[in-house]
Order: sequence, then C-alpha cells, then structure tokens
Amino acid sequence: MGTNGGAVPERQKLVYEGKAKQVYTTSDPDRVIVRFKDSATAFDGAKKAEITDKGRINAGISAFLMEKMAAAGIPTHFEQALSENEHLCKRVQIVPIEVVVRNVLAGSICKRFGLEEGGTLPYPMVEFFYKDDALHDPPMSDIHARLFGWAEDWELAYLRHAALKVNAALQDFWNGLGVTLVDFKLEFGRFSSGQLLLADEITPDGSRLWDSKTKQKLDKDVFRRDLGDLSDTYRQLYSRVFGHGVDAPQ
Ligand code: 5GP
Repeated sequence: MGTNGGAVPERQKLVYEGKAKQVYTTSDPDRVIVRFKDSATAFDGAKKAEITDKGRINAGISAFLMEKMAAAGIPTHFEQALSENEHLCKRVQIVPIEVVVRNVLAGSICKRFGLEEGGTLPYPMVEFFYKDDALHDPPMSDIHARLFGWAEDWELAYLRHAALKVNAALQDFWNGLGVTLVDFKLEFGRFSSGQLLLADEITPDGSRLWDSKTKQKLDKDVFRRDLGDLSDTYRQLYSRVFGHGVDAPQ
C-alpha cells in the first residue's frame, strides 16, 4: 500500500539513469520509482567504481533522513521504501540549482578562495551552483536564475529557507551521533501542484560528515581522495545511524 492508502503503482520504463540512481516512471503519472545504484563517481564522472552495498546503504540512510525532514516540516518527494534500494517518490521536475549548505570550510570553497580546510563558520552559508556536469556545476547567484529562467524569486527564497531548516534538523541529528555535518548538497523539484519539494537524496555521497572527535571522514571524500575503503566507511556510518549493520536481520 502507498502512504496515502492507495496501491503501489506499477513500474514502467527507465526514464533517467544518473551516476548513482535510476528513475522509472510508474502507472501513476505523479509517482516514480528511484533505484539507488552501487556505482560511485567523482569529478563529474571522470573517476568511477562499484562499491559493494552502496545502493542499499544510501537508500536506507536517505529514506530515514527524508522522513526526519518531513517531520521537521520540510515537504519531500519521498513516500516509501519499496525494497532495500528502491523508493517510491513523487515525480518532480528538478530545479537545475544545487543548493549547498556549509557549516565548516571544506572542498570547493577552499579552492575558490584559497582557504584552509576545517575552519568553522560563525553561521551557515548557502551557495547555489548551476546543475550541469559538462560545465562542472559552476557557482551562480540569483541574477543568473532570474535572467536565464532557472527559478523564480520566490523559489530561490524558498530554497534558501528550506536548506537552512534542513541544516538545523540534520545538524541536530548528526551531532547526537558524534558526527560533524561539514556541508551538504540538496536538490529540489517542482511537483505537478507547483509545490517545491526536497528531492534527490540525503546521503554521504552528497554530504561531508566528519567524526567530531577524530575528524575521520565518513563520506564520499574517502573515494574522491583515495583515503580508504568506501564500502567499509559507509557500513560504519550505517551502523551509527541505525545501531546495527546493514546485514543484520530486521
Ligand atoms: P563542494 O562545493 O565543496 O564540492 O561540495 C559541497 C558539498 O556538496 C559536499 O558535501 C559535496 O559532497 C556536495 N556536492 C556538491 N556537488 C555535488 C555533486 O555534483 N554530487 C554530489 N553527490 N554531491 C555534491
């Protein structure tokens, strides 16, 4: 049964295959099935590998965090888990803006401005990037969205507001597990009703998560920077979130 009491719609055809997920249409024009893959990529697809169990680990973590965000008052596309690596979601048109929230300096902002990694910001920063792999997701601001038709002013205001609300809820959660939420990327989509929904995923693929004490990286930087075994890292993170391993009987 769907969360709204209806039957789960039937899977139809693959309409999108990205680096980490596949999207299938369903018999309900307003619903899609999202399948999380085991592939990992970095540097806009230049580096690739298959990571054992990544799909089900990310699907499990994303379902859990999307439900937390809904409980915190942020509407999301997530409806229910259909299997270990598949979600039933509302079908949205993705806004082509990657919304990044930063609490601690790391990654591209350090490169862009010549800053040292690890400095804590006095308050969180929201940055927009134009979602286009071929262009390497360039930084952008409101004027680009407005003049190039990527989003309306009210939508940009909502993206910022919702991203900061997500940040507060996620920080609360990760801090409780002894994990520092350094930064993360969100994507939003327009539902058929016109409502903006938090979409895509909330996973260690799109977040920087450091152990608060040891500063050990618990996210995809382990793969991007060749720091160790990503499957082991993601398994450790999964166990912290759920209190049991990904192979434990449910
Ligand atoms: P940065 O701008 O420092 O590269 O990334 C900031 C945060 O957003 C990091 O947590 C990073 O994982 C995430 N992020 C930025 N762009 C992408 C992207 O294209 N894909 C994924 N999975 N995460 C991204």
